[in-house]
Amino acid sequence: MKFQVPRGTRDILPGEVERWHWLEERTRAAMALYGYREVRTPIFEATELFVRSVGESTDIVRKELYTFQDRKGRSLTLRPEGTAPLVRAYLENPPLRAESPARLYYMGPMFRYERPQAGRYRQFWQIGAELLGSAQPEADAEMIDLFRAILSDVGLKSVTVLLNSLGDSVCRPRYREAIREYFKKHVDRLCGDCKERLETNPLRILDCKVPSCAPVIAGAPSVLDSLCAECAEHFEAVKRSLAGLGIAYEVDPRLVRGLDYYTRTVFEIHAAGLGAQNAVGGGGRYDQLVKDFGGPETPAIGFSIGMERLLLAVGDSAVPPPQGPDVCVIALEPGAQVEAQALARSLRGQLTEPETRRALRVMVDVAGRSANAQMKWASKIAARWAVFVPKGPEGYAVRDMAAGKDEAKQPSDEDLRRWLLGRRDLVESPR
Ligand code: AMP
Repeated sequence: MKFQVPRGTRDILPGEVERWHWLEERTRAAMALYGYREVRTPIFEATELFVRSVGESTDIVRKELYTFQDRKGRSLTLRPEGTAPLVRAYLENPPLRAESPARLYYMGPMFRYERPQAGRYRQFWQIGAELLGSAQPEADAEMIDLFRAILSDVGLKSVTVLLNSLGDSVCRPRYREAIREYFKKHVDRLCGDCKERLETNPLRILDCKVPSCAPVIAGAPSVLDSLCAECAEHFEAVKRSLAGLGIAYEVDPRLVRGLDYYTRTVFEIHAAGLGAQNAVGGGGRYDQLVKDFGGPETPAIGFSIGMERLLLAVGDSAVPPPQGPDVCVIALEPGAQVEAQALARSLRGQLTEPETRRALRVMVDVAGRSANAQMKWASKIAARWAVFVPKGPEGYAVRDMAAGKDEAKQPSDEDLRRWLLGRRDLVESPR
């Protein structure tokens, strides 16, 4: 019997996984610079959590949830997004609320039963940040600035920020009715899904990608024309803040996003080279969600970035190439294998040493290869140096594999380690 990776999922293998590590490190560093702290929530939650927040009539809840019953008959769902779990955790854990606004982030896999295509998976990874406890437009600006900082830190400079406002509980219902009236008049020209959306969620029609719907959508009234005075002022203030930070944006009154909890500001960042799936990520305000979950009035805003998409947009050039080990210890005769393994261990040093730079990456054969085969292997895995055991009368023989030349013999383990570390510092660019 042959097993295959489930449809819409993939293995991330060595060679590629280094790019993920790099992205994760960069992102964590950017989050720390802005004072955001990580929360790790479970992969699954009560189904109701997503139905209530993402929205019953959204595609995610209607068609894309991975829902199952556990042995006690509880309905659980693999998380399709990270905001609802984080808000749940925020309400459940007082320490998270100790500081207001709270600045939090998450990073991890999400699950949606979508039709797989380039850049779209059933298990995909998101990085997300949330700022809970501020209704100020400066919070919106900080979010978009942080999003941009992450992208720019991984080398993605040419991006487009799309900005819109969806209004609040005062003006959104008015807009929803206006657009329902409008689309009703053109119902014959709408696709099947949009006909359904007309009843359940008319705003989502604006997001329809079916070509025949496009001309109808183009003529629809703009949400920005129906904002109430407070929402309009908030939107203007966000734009002023962005301008103050030198962040260019385009107002896109058709931007609605696929989750129901958004209020006021919504945004997306697009990058070139991603084809149809060109949104690296997006987010928006969700001023009612904490309250809807039974918490106190807590206006909030967040975003999420698709990690596969981001890596696709970044390409290979920005990512440092994977490195081989610093050293391969070569056992010149079968009886020297134990000595080789012991030397490898002592050369590695301790990762817990205050400076991890004092640790060397050392590999040693455990497959019973001949000395010759060990040398071939050392060069295949791009080891910087080979060190030979047993030690000769003048010490350890060392070979620079990259330059193909023998180095001075090193009398003791300590001399060898110091020499290798010193040379490596010369070779490596300073960190
Ligand atoms: P959303 O949570 O739908 O706002 O999506 C935020 C970002 O997550 C998108 O812009 C994509 O980059 C990424 N994303 C969403 N769905 C998928 C998917 N099925 N596969 C890969 N990335 C996705």
